[in-house]
Amino acid sequence: MIACLGRIVQGTDADSIPEDDVSTISQSLDLQGTTIESGGITGVADKDFGGIYSVKPLALIKPSGTEDIARVVKAASRTSNLTVAARGNGHSINGQAMADGGLVIDMRSTEENHFKLLTIDGSPYLDVSGGALWEDVLKRCVSMFRLAPRSWTDYLSLTVGGTLSNAGVSGQAFRYGPQTSNVTELEVVTGKGEITVCSETQNSELFFGALGGLGQFGIITRARVKLQPAPDMVRWIRLVYSEFEEFTRDAEFLVTRGEGESFDYVEGFVFSNSDDPINGWPSVLLDPDHEFNPAHIPQTAGSVLYCLEVALHYRHSDHTSTVDSAVSGLLERLQFVRRLKFQVNVSYVEFLLRVKRVEEYARANGIWDSPHPWLNIFVSKSSIVDFDRTVFRKMLKDGVGGPMLVYPLLRSKWDDRTSVVLPEGEIFYIVALLRFVPKGPPVEKWVAQNHEIVKWCNEEGLDFKLYLPHYQSKEDWKRHFGNQWSRFVERKSSFDPMAILAPGQKICKRTN
Ligand code: FAD
Repeated sequence: MIACLGRIVQGTDADSIPEDDVSTISQSLDLQGTTIESGGITGVADKDFGGIYSVKPLALIKPSGTEDIARVVKAASRTSNLTVAARGNGHSINGQAMADGGLVIDMRSTEENHFKLLTIDGSPYLDVSGGALWEDVLKRCVSMFRLAPRSWTDYLSLTVGGTLSNAGVSGQAFRYGPQTSNVTELEVVTGKGEITVCSETQNSELFFGALGGLGQFGIITRARVKLQPAPDMVRWIRLVYSEFEEFTRDAEFLVTRGEGESFDYVEGFVFSNSDDPINGWPSVLLDPDHEFNPAHIPQTAGSVLYCLEVALHYRHSDHTSTVDSAVSGLLERLQFVRRLKFQVNVSYVEFLLRVKRVEEYARANGIWDSPHPWLNIFVSKSSIVDFDRTVFRKMLKDGVGGPMLVYPLLRSKWDDRTSVVLPEGEIFYIVALLRFVPKGPPVEKWVAQNHEIVKWCNEEGLDFKLYLPHYQSKEDWKRHFGNQWSRFVERKSSFDPMAILAPGQKICKRTN
């Protein structure tokens, strides 16, 4: 193992490195404060949240900063076969942050390197490390500056670089776009080991390439994130629908209205029309005092029901009656089942950390660490009714052991110069099948069901793209990127010509 590591320092005195001394290798690379652990003993770099794949790296590297990351990438480029995977918080599903026999860089060890508030043209921005967790960004921004990023993910124990390499989507994206639409500058270490600052106007190909770039063009070491004043409180509301057409009509109505004329957060999910504690009626409740009375479900309801989840921001200084009338003014236009409405008031930070509570519960029940064969798909508005009819109402009518999210997003809020690929049309839906599999059939069964769903989408000619995509063959990747494939290839040859970076995405093979 260590003998192989010696190869990464070709050109130095690698031959004199004692085979059992990893710190000597670290020194010979002249890495400032960086530690290297050999692959066999990491126990971190070969695991991810999905728990489906596991490959052993050669080593896990904990860099102290950007220069060290650049040195590691350069060293890998001097070998014939080494690859480098940035590992954010390892919350991928399909081994995307792993490197088989390669070097895994633990980005978390750089999380403290950047945290600076800036004002540019009167607007606030935060310079933050690629390895920082969004939950820390939230807590620090709100407590120190009473400011916060505008666009989030539902769960925040994810790194800035990890979500920006995909898109970063939650209930604010209809208004502000995904997280990739809310950064103005990046510092990136390319696959050539060059440290490059990039933005819309400076090295723009790298900037847009890295955003949603699946780690293929560079390692994001710093991001400049747009901020806004943080509200104090959130009215968090869930509304039940029995008809998909009414649910989508209302969701689309809310996401297409201007700021000040809609909620601040709009999401939705499908749940089983049953008393199943995980997949059914109880999954809608926001408070232990809430009760779901099935007598209110319309007779016409089918195997599944729909829940529109919305939230309105407000300040401590806002009078309750002001919030009440703003909420009722919006709700009166909607067609939900009137007696199946649930709401609570929570602090803004508590609202954004809501999935942390789910994590605590899942950890206590032993299902956080079990496999998660998740499937995320962007489905165009033109295909979503067919998707509901077959996938939600038939294939998944009993649920997936976790949330089945479905809510609309607006293509115009996404920058088509980034590497993300989307279905056609202005409105498309994110569908997230967030499976938790505590016991029962082996994980392969659920992976096979995911394949079946994707196969059905293809056979029926649905307009869709995988989000957090996972493919094994170049042909599938080509199809995924569609008419953006040539742009992908050009960017790859400019910024990572030897295909050193993010080998776990299985898009390109390492070359010499
Ligand atoms: P990792 O899994 O560590 O890495 C992901 C990929 O990015 C790898 O290819 C890796 O090499 C690369 N990478 C990591 N860091 C960098 C970097 N600094 N520079 C360049 N490349 C890098 N996504 C949403 O959009 N919305 C959600 O609401 C949402 N909720 C989630 C909830 C949970 C519980 C989980 C497990 C995932 C969720 N995701 C969500 C998906 C999540 O955004 C992605 O899986 C993301 O990649 C995870 O970030 P990470 O820091 O763990 O990245």
